[in-house]
Amino acid sequence: MTKNPKRYAQFVDDLPNDLSRNVILGTTIETNRGYNVQKMGATYPPQSRHHRYLSMKALDWPRKFVAIEPLMDFDPESLEQWIKDIKPEKVSVSYDNHGHGLIEPSKEKTVRFCRRLGASREPEIMVHLHGYWVKDPSKCPKCGKSNVIEFEENHGHKEMCFSCNYERKRD
Ligand SMILES: [Zn+2]
Repeated sequence: MTKNPKRYAQFVDDLPNDLSRNVILGTTIETNRGYNVQKMGATYPPQSRHHRYLSMKALDWPRKFVAIEPLMDFDPESLEQWIKDIKPEKVSVSYDNHGHGLIEPSKEKTVRFCRRLGASREPEIMVHLHGYWVKDPSKCPKCGKSNVIEFEENHGHKEMCFSCNYERKRD
């Protein structure tokens, strides 16, 4: 994981081919929008994020990962296009849990986005929603992808898949 995926391009050429089966190269992208992101005492301007996107998109590597964290409000079509361009095998989505007071999307918007992402192509999605995330994605009984997550909702539990329309209520 790096904030400077441009470096990846430099060393990827030197790596032996069989290593590409094991090594996942990843980066962090908080949003597609032009916010300044405050994190760990540093400020990341929108240009740095756009560079990360372009570097990951240009990176010729079979196994990639994108962490959308801390998640900030976003434009679904644009952010989805960024992810499609990067072609990651995994995407993790996490709200800020350090109280930075960021501009965040609603939970419903995030779930909708994750469903589109899961339905449109391959990446497996990991989601950490404020107080909602319960467990790691498990296998969907309907489509077989590991994209089922479990929510707490109205004192009960609900399972849903980010790749298909599977949903199940549980007590
Ligand atoms: Zn499914």
